Amino acid sequence: MSVPLLDLSAQYQPLRSELLAAITRVCDSQRFILGPETESLERELAALVGVPSAVGVSSGTDALLVAMMALDIGPGDEVITPTYSFFATAGCVVRIGATPVLVDIDPATYNLDPRAVAAAITPRTKAVIPVHLYGQCADMDEIMAIASNAGVPVIEDACQSIGATYKGRQAGAIGTTGCFSFFPSKNLGAFGDGGLVTATDETLGKRIKILRTHGGERRYYHQEVGGNFRLDELQAAVLRVKLPHLDAWTKARQTNAARYRALFTDRGLDKIDGVVLPVERSDRSHIYNQFVIRVPKRDAVKAHLQASGIGCEVYYPVPFHLQECFQHLGYAQGAFPEAEAAANNSLALPIYGELTEAQQAEVVDAIAAAS
Ligand SMILES: *Cc1c(COP(=O)(O)O)cnc(C)c1O
Repeated sequence: MSVPLLDLSAQYQPLRSELLAAITRVCDSQRFILGPETESLERELAALVGVPSAVGVSSGTDALLVAMMALDIGPGDEVITPTYSFFATAGCVVRIGATPVLVDIDPATYNLDPRAVAAAITPRTKAVIPVHLYGQCADMDEIMAIASNAGVPVIEDACQSIGATYKGRQAGAIGTTGCFSFFPSKNLGAFGDGGLVTATDETLGKRIKILRTHGGERRYYHQEVGGNFRLDELQAAVLRVKLPHLDAWTKARQTNAARYRALFTDRGLDKIDGVVLPVERSDRSHIYNQFVIRVPKRDAVKAHLQASGIGCEVYYPVPFHLQECFQHLGYAQGAFPEAEAAANNSLALPIYGELTEAQQAEVVDAIAAAS
């Protein structure tokens, strides 16, 4: 039996007719850009996250970019981000002309280490971007306190964490803005690219909305230079069919995570030195966009899983400070030991909601055989 890392068709099949009807509705309307689907989705997601403003955008990457534009970040500014995340987090900082100031991660959660953030603040710091990696929120109280002391906004990269909570609050509702992605592999995935920016301040939300369409409120009149960061009606319609199921899908991922823990314990794998399961902080919920373990001889384990037909992936093999395109930032190998260790020993296992217990047992047996 092969076990894919992600099986999108298992989610699609039961919703197929509803999804196709939603797509047909948009096609029949011939209204493809910023219509009723996007507006309704924005209202529904603002309510879910608990913010006054949610703006549908073209991708999670563009969400980060337009959020930084709306916060007037640019050349000469420093933006603090973890060195260990999906590329877009730091890529957007460079694209906007600012300098990413990289910090190491907390080895337990893979999220940025607040002590490192505090140490990285300078008079040029213009924002902090905590990433809620793999589906669990970063240490937001500590990060918000540091940012507030420095007088800078916090941009939550919540691209992997829709629905995750921190002390009862939703990811994306704590910082100045929150950025979400609807890339198909995220917990709420579109049939293509899509994203969302939330704002806890209505004025900021309004500016983001204007920047989304070339910086103009009235067509052909531009108060500033924005871009084309719009979400398609087709994607919004698909997302609205999926949204009511998000809670159940998240619960299924959490159930699967608990099942992995039991299976690892049953087989004594948790006793092997160097095998580490994801750490859940008690004051927040983990939505398991990824279930990432650490294993000794990771590359051998990965090769064995792949040879056995089991999907797995290394997120992320190269931290930002070691990326070719960021060499000008001047960080050396060894600069961020926790991120480098995570890059070398972590492995993501299949965790999607429709995964069966038998498939999970097969994954864990394959790891046992390779360890
Ligand atoms: C997916 C992701 C992004 C980018 O989202 P896209 O929709 O793919 O542009 C940014 N940051 C993180 C942490 C992500 O996981």
